[in-house]
Amino acid sequence: MTSSAPVTSSLCHPSLAQRATAAYLGLAVGDALGATVEFMTPREIAVQYGVHDRMRGGGWLNLRPGQVTDDTTMALALGEAILAHGRVLARPAAEAFDAWMRARPVDIGNTVRRGLLRYRETGLAEMPECEHAAGNGAAMRVLPVALATLGQPEEQVRHACRVQAHVTHHNLLSDAATECLALMVQDALGGAGKVRLLHERAHPLARRHPEFAFRAVRQQANPSGYVVDTLVAVFQALFDSDDFESCLIDVVNRGGDADTTGAIAGMLAGALYGIEAIPARWLDALDPAIRGACARQAEALARL
Ligand code: MG
Ligand code: MG
Repeated sequence: MTSSAPVTSSLCHPSLAQRATAAYLGLAVGDALGATVEFMTPREIAVQYGVHDRMRGGGWLNLRPGQVTDDTTMALALGEAILAHGRVLARPAAEAFDAWMRARPVDIGNTVRRGLLRYRETGLAEMPECEHAAGNGAAMRVLPVALATLGQPEEQVRHACRVQAHVTHHNLLSDAATECLALMVQDALGGAGKVRLLHERAHPLARRHPEFAFRAVRQQANPSGYVVDTLVAVFQALFDSDDFESCLIDVVNRGGDADTTGAIAGMLAGALYGIEAIPARWLDALDPAIRGACARQAEALARL
């Protein structure tokens, strides 16, 4: 979608492009930090690392320190497709994801694989609605859509989120989570603080879909790849902390799908707190090519 006048004026705000970059780098940092402890329980993490708070690589994927996984690389693939066409379109997104899968990514979710294999077979870039497609794969890669649709009416933003989501995940809860995250990023880039995100996005989501009522759960430990578990853990960590570092340390030390909770929390916290809030020791550990791609895409997408 092309941008409209309000985007131009909001781009004049000195911190918008910088916050967009912080959201993208926050996504990558959270992914790389969390991947070390993906599928571990909080107790296993505590025994092995005490508090996991540095880029050490390893984990079940045997990563290099600072190496990212599918959460970041799928977002980058989607972002390239959006930039190539100037808008969010299903077929280019499917083609980009398919090319990404052919390049043998370090990890890939089952629902993503199923959707892309079906796309190869049928050429259809929208999966049929499925109650079992409530994994977090569509939500984790939504950032480039949030940036590309800055300034657009909320219904258009939601539609663009669903277009990219349905390539692999066509599910009511996945849609609700994906749309909510994109709108939260946009609000934060526009200057909204944590309290506004809580009252204007997180609480309304839980009113529409009580599954997401994160305050009812004391602490979501060991969150699974179910998008509800993911958002509950992320919301608890985000709304119970006041800075990027403590939010990320909280969420990844819960273990479970920690690269994805880390990526999503990093995206939101980056958008909220800006680039200076991301610890340099984490940023410096990122692969320079990934770091450069995130920064370049963030600026280009926010300018669309
Ligand atoms: Mg991953
Ligand atoms: Mg994961």
